[in-house]
Amino acid sequence: MIAKTREIERDKRLTNNLPLIRYVDPEYVYIAITNARCATGESYVKEGDYVKVGQKIGLRHGPFFEQPIHSTVSGTVVGTVKKFHRSGKLTEFIQIKNDKKDVMDESVKERTPEEIKALTREDFVNITKEMSLVGLGGSSFPTYIKFQCTDPIETLCINAVECEPYLSADHRLIMEYPDRIMRGIGYAMQAFNAKRAVICIKKKYDDLYQTLTATLTRHQNLNIEVKKVGNYYPQGWEIEMIKTGLGVKVPTGVLPQKLGIMVLNVSTVVGLYKAIRYNMPVVKRNFTITGDGITTPQNFRVRVGTSLKELIDFSGGYNSEDDKVLILGGPMMGANLVRDDAVITKTCTSCIIMNNKEYKEEPCVRCGSCVYSCPAGLQPVQIMQAVKNNDKDALKNKLNIRACILCGMCSYTCTSKIHLTDYCRKAKKIAL
Ligand code: SF4
Ligand code: SF4
Repeated sequence: MIAKTREIERDKRLTNNLPLIRYVDPEYVYIAITNARCATGESYVKEGDYVKVGQKIGLRHGPFFEQPIHSTVSGTVVGTVKKFHRSGKLTEFIQIKNDKKDVMDESVKERTPEEIKALTREDFVNITKEMSLVGLGGSSFPTYIKFQCTDPIETLCINAVECEPYLSADHRLIMEYPDRIMRGIGYAMQAFNAKRAVICIKKKYDDLYQTLTATLTRHQNLNIEVKKVGNYYPQGWEIEMIKTGLGVKVPTGVLPQKLGIMVLNVSTVVGLYKAIRYNMPVVKRNFTITGDGITTPQNFRVRVGTSLKELIDFSGGYNSEDDKVLILGGPMMGANLVRDDAVITKTCTSCIIMNNKEYKEEPCVRCGSCVYSCPAGLQPVQIMQAVKNNDKDALKNKLNIRACILCGMCSYTCTSKIHLTDYCRKAKKIAL
């Protein structure tokens, strides 16, 4: 398993050291009316309306929360169109023609240091809710809910591990925007009244360590430490990161906040910085196009709402006529796209384009690799059997499928190339 992990790590080298290319002025942007967490939504704008950057142009409805929808450019509303969302689903988007003037909405305004200092926890809840800030590492979990936590938080754990193969968007964020990261962490520490923050990075990335520690010399008022953790997958899983980075073992079923620890992704703290300092929603983000099927792998700073196809073309297009596999997100936990007609939303980190290699599934040889590799201590092979037998009792009461984080390790290590993670996904649907 270790040999394989090292092998996939090499793929990050395709883009880790490539500086960000600014691609922030597409002709059109597309803003989703619904998403994976909000099944319904409404647009406040119609064809011909002029909109500004940061303007509220709609509202999404989730099961227990609402999410304002913001324009990421200034320009004219064209109408609505169907495109693929990062979840892989065909979704309705508001199409806006970008006038490339970046006219800001009146709601976007800088807060003074005094105003920021006076913000209460409730203010942080309200601002992040109004800005629709969510986990930008891909979780899309609403950040305001984290600020509503009533447990005392002593330590912030900043997830900068980016442990999935190929991904380098956070790597470039740290290398190119380290001050924004420190300021965002400072705001989060203020909100939680946390005593310290620990930024976790992979130990092999000395460039990240040097950049972050050098930046900290400019933020000596903040008690922030940079911690090198393991180089393996899934080191970025919060339970594993807390164990390695803080030396704390979180018992199964217990939330880290119950132990005084709050985890935030490194790109989320940059989103927080923008929300608190400028009252600005996420309108740009880092995005990587990589894999052996694209002509020029690159890192971008993109406008949220940019068409993926446009970025693929800008990267020289596909490098052959062979069939391609497109994955939005990391190869272990991302979603497969059936077409490249997708949109880069604020939670998209990357698109991996691979030349399609046919893998034929073989029967299970009872080797135990999947069991050995599961970070949650589950029995993927038993889960597969229970799904095949539609054994609801085993799935609900014996196999602890709730603990599965859909990390993909079982599929990756399976000797017989069985898509065990698909069975886990089905098992969750049956059991939960
Ligand atoms: S996908 Fe679930 S069962 Fe498979 S290795 Fe990850 S946590 Fe374990
Ligand atoms: S890794 Fe694959 S072949 Fe081995 S026990 Fe698990 S399911 Fe069977």
